[in-house]
Amino acid sequence: MNCLDCATEFRLQVAAVAVCTGCGAAVCGDHAKVREHTLTQKVLGGMALMTVPVSPPARRVRCLSCDAAHRNGNAEHREATW
Ligand SMILES: [Zn+2]
Ligand SMILES: [Zn+2]
Repeated sequence: MNCLDCATEFRLQVAAVAVCTGCGAAVCGDHAKVREHTLTQKVLGGMALMTVPVSPPARRVRCLSCDAAHRNGNAEHREATW
């Protein structure tokens, strides 16, 4: 599979290294953004449940378009109420 952004922007055939979790487009290393996404778990700490981050953080790959959109707006929330 080849990078969608390279194909549409530059008409280049560049091998893709990842798939965007937002739109499903295949992207090359230049067009992929790897983000860390920290998950949490509840553990009993003393008398109460505490929310603590899980290690290691999960990984999420997005294309540049989806990464920019997710940074500019709260897309997860909007998707949930769509
Ligand atoms: Zn590319
Ligand atoms: Zn995308």
